[in-house]
Amino acid sequence: MAKITFIGLGNMGGPMAANLLKAGHQVTVFDLSQAAVEALVADGARTAGSARDAAVGAECVITMLPAGQHVEAVYLGEDGLLAALPQGTLVIDSSTIAPETARDVAEAARARGLAFMDAPVSGGVGGARAGTLTFICGGEADTFERVRPILEGMGKNIFHAGPHGSGQVAKICNNMLLAILMTGTSEALALGVRNGLDPAVLSEIMKQSSGGNWALNVYNPWPGVMDGVPASRGYEGGFLVKLMAKDLGLAFDNAVRNQAAIPMGSLARNLFQLHAGQGNEDLDFSSIQRLYHPDAGA
Ligand code: NAD
Repeated sequence: MAKITFIGLGNMGGPMAANLLKAGHQVTVFDLSQAAVEALVADGARTAGSARDAAVGAECVITMLPAGQHVEAVYLGEDGLLAALPQGTLVIDSSTIAPETARDVAEAARARGLAFMDAPVSGGVGGARAGTLTFICGGEADTFERVRPILEGMGKNIFHAGPHGSGQVAKICNNMLLAILMTGTSEALALGVRNGLDPAVLSEIMKQSSGGNWALNVYNPWPGVMDGVPASRGYEGGFLVKLMAKDLGLAFDNAVRNQAAIPMGSLARNLFQLHAGQGNEDLDFSSIQRLYHPDAGA
């Protein structure tokens, strides 16, 4: 079992770190939120006063932070973690960030003799809690073999997408598709309800028909149709609108950089940005349903 330092204990990182404890690892945690740290300490984690102190003696450091600027702040610069870790330490970043940022951190890590892997995840808070996340890794093949047993403590499907940054590219493509299918599902449900259909009946029909998709199967956006999903608890928790808007911004920037056309992704980005700007940025992303039907579920 490994000595692991876990930094970033939010909606995803908290349950991921808890699963590493359950898998028998010695886990030291750090987050800017004291409440988040205390929840993990109650589960048996150690802690320290800073990210740098928490990483002393670690064989592996894992970060699960909101966005690229947080990842850069934690790892880079004179006060950053990379400058403090001994050679050979495994460094895994599971945040969703730009591939370019992941490559910059990977290069800085390589220069210090550290093994870096971008390993963003899919599967949501439910997958994080159940330990069934999909990890999408970018980095060298031998590093992939070293990180795999650790990631298996938190996930079910562990993919190696290619060299540094590839994990982030695959993750950005996936989330662009997720945003498109969640908005499409919300649009279809709103149209059906405007025609007097019951959203639960319509959901079941589409689930068993050619419109079936992940949102209908496990993350229905209409309040009350499915138990245990954010839509049925006022869109609290889950995957925040502001994080989806960030990911769609990453897809958009990437498309511009690569001269790729993403008309559906661009529309989804605008819809989520509009929704975020209307005061919904801290709700779960399935609340995009309200953009189509403001009193959905009322
Ligand atoms: P979150 O906002 O719930 O958690 C982020 C945590 O990082 C917070 O607890 C915050 O206090 C902490 N943090 C920020 N800066 C820090 C710093 N400098 N040092 C220590 N801690 C710091 O976000 P989340 O939903 O857990 O998502 C984390 C990442 O995973 C994001 O990049 C997101 O896009 C991605 N992601 C989220 C989901 C999901 O369903 N929520 C699914 C897949 C991927």
